[in-house]
Amino acid sequence: MRSVGPKANKLLKKLSLITLGDIIYHTPSKYIDFSNIKTINSVKIDEEVTVFGEVISCKANNYSKVSTIICMIKDGTSVLPAVWFNQPYLANTLKAGTKVFLSGCLSKKFGRLQMENPIYEVNDSESDLTHTGRIIPVHPSTTGLAKRQLRTIIKMAINNVCDIEDPLHMCKPANIQGLYDAFKKVHFPETADDPVDAINRFAWEELFYFFLLQKIKKGKNSKVAGIAHENKAIPAKAIAGLPFSLTDQQEKCIKSIFFDMETPFAMDRVIQGDVGSGKTIVAFLAMLKAVASGGQAVLMAPTEILAEQHYKRFNEFFAYMDINNILLTGSTSQKLRKQYLNSVKSAEAQVIIGTHALIQESIEYRNLSLVVIDEQHRFGVVQREKLRQKSHIIPDYLMLSATPIPRTMFSITYADVDVNIIDEFPASTRDVSTKVVPVTEENLVIDKVKTLIATGRQTFIVCPVIEDGDALQLQAVEKELTRWAKALYPYRIGKMHGKMSSRDKQSVMEDFSRGFLDVLICTSVIEVGIDVPNATIMVINNADRFGLAQLHQMRGRIGRGGDKSYCFLMCSSNSAASSQRLKALEQHNDGFKLSEIDLQLRGEGEIFGLKQWGRNQFKFVDFTKHTNYIKETRKAAEGVCADFHNDSQSIAAELRRRYPMYKELIKEFANNSRQVQR
Ligand code: ADP
Ligand code: MG
Repeated sequence: MRSVGPKANKLLKKLSLITLGDIIYHTPSKYIDFSNIKTINSVKIDEEVTVFGEVISCKANNYSKVSTIICMIKDGTSVLPAVWFNQPYLANTLKAGTKVFLSGCLSKKFGRLQMENPIYEVNDSESDLTHTGRIIPVHPSTTGLAKRQLRTIIKMAINNVCDIEDPLHMCKPANIQGLYDAFKKVHFPETADDPVDAINRFAWEELFYFFLLQKIKKGKNSKVAGIAHENKAIPAKAIAGLPFSLTDQQEKCIKSIFFDMETPFAMDRVIQGDVGSGKTIVAFLAMLKAVASGGQAVLMAPTEILAEQHYKRFNEFFAYMDINNILLTGSTSQKLRKQYLNSVKSAEAQVIIGTHALIQESIEYRNLSLVVIDEQHRFGVVQREKLRQKSHIIPDYLMLSATPIPRTMFSITYADVDVNIIDEFPASTRDVSTKVVPVTEENLVIDKVKTLIATGRQTFIVCPVIEDGDALQLQAVEKELTRWAKALYPYRIGKMHGKMSSRDKQSVMEDFSRGFLDVLICTSVIEVGIDVPNATIMVINNADRFGLAQLHQMRGRIGRGGDKSYCFLMCSSNSAASSQRLKALEQHNDGFKLSEIDLQLRGEGEIFGLKQWGRNQFKFVDFTKHTNYIKETRKAAEGVCADFHNDSQSIAAELRRRYPMYKELIKEFANNSRQVQR
């Protein structure tokens, strides 16, 4: 800031406070209430108060190691000594006759009442106080920059913007504060509610600008040149050849996907649906369409086990179609790999199924036209954008996600892509009864499990541990696995955890899915994707350590054959709250609903990745509190976007300030919109 000296400016820079905008958005981390102004004779010991009086005398004592200032104040009711240590310069400020406010706590020392190191403010009326006599803000600062100085700078900054126009005055609802009021209320509140009002405003605008940017990006992306997939006959034949008929929602998905694929623009679409809702087949059909239209299709899975499962299933479904498909993972032999890379390059390979390595390595595709990403959380977006920026003609993108997010979060999480939701299961309905069981009744569960295994069913026993933990944790896993193995003797038991090689994991998994094992004792590695229809029992130990949505995802592994299934949630915690929380799983079988409950009960951190991602995007939004703003701001942003005119230029300016990396895009949008107007 110009009105601030170079030294202070340097310190402000350290706090990343460079522009006026940065400074006014530097909100307090806490407040101290000094609004209680009292006469000296009525102040009580240990009370946080403000007194106002005139300096009678002010003496510096520099003889001892600690320099002391003793200042006598009178206010007509009494006299009060104030003491400061190591601030000798105060003697110059607090000369006799000066009118001063003091805020702090009254204490008794050696039988005498005094105020130690109070905050002072030289002023002769209550009307314009900054550091005393009110609720004062405490802003995050840095060494060398006194809180007092920072407060003064911020006050100056606010005075500077007193005639600021609120870019949103036309599009915000009445209950949302005006911009200038919000700045005043957050930095210098009159009441305890003021900062809340202000934060609400900042959250609202944060969401608004976020949606506006996404809208602009999406408008631009939807015009990115892509590939028009024209073949309709083969996909139709494939659908007719499936061993089941598609659910309504699967059909709807396919319709949107095929529509996108047929246009000459790049598709950017997500299918969101619980595990087992039948997303994979939808993706397969899209891949067929790509191949039938002369392209190459890639399916990328998060783990080797899943990639292999997809590969097998693809071949089961479409063996009769004579499509050249390959499986490419970290376990593919060097020799085969070389051969595969060649066939990808020559476009002989039409369908390529594999793990993440598929896009990270230098694989050359001859005519890649569809990329399907399974269970890739939305952080992959960065990669996708990079790809977009690189080339003019880019493949269609289809992402599959089973990570449950609260419905209210949808428009945020997927603001810049198109979404299809599948929230029904295929005809063979699943019947899973879920029960929360205190760990003290483990024996009953063991008996029940044994009876069920005796009827030929298979069981998952899940032991939660942190997968990337150290040797000690590995030991704990082994111990727990061994304990369960003993309890379920003499049934055939396999173990699986994240520290095993993927070859070993694969072989255990294979034995389990072929029915060579009755029980699979595992860590949460089974969370994604595994399909064993005969598995009808699951015991989850220490279930209270997991989020509801995550438990729900694990539970999705059983009952896939349509048979009556049982999920036991072992609860070790004595806390009623945590068993209450788990009971939600007894009642609900909807991943969206469960993640909503998690969000309300445990907060943002429990929604996978949300916290980390959300914090980068939003400083003020709290997803447990501001959910109703999501719809509102999105609508407002859409309105502004559709009807952008000269008056909206201040919105564009603020948008550029917030998202400097998209400056050009925003400029272009604003200019184009203006031209359309003329
Ligand atoms: P997701 O990928 O969404 O977790 P899957 O695609 O693996 O779910 O589907 C789960 C199971 O349901 C698979 O065995 C699949 O073959 C089967 N399935 C998919 N769609 C249908 C349908 N319309 N009718 C019957 N079974 C279906
Ligand atoms: Mg297309």
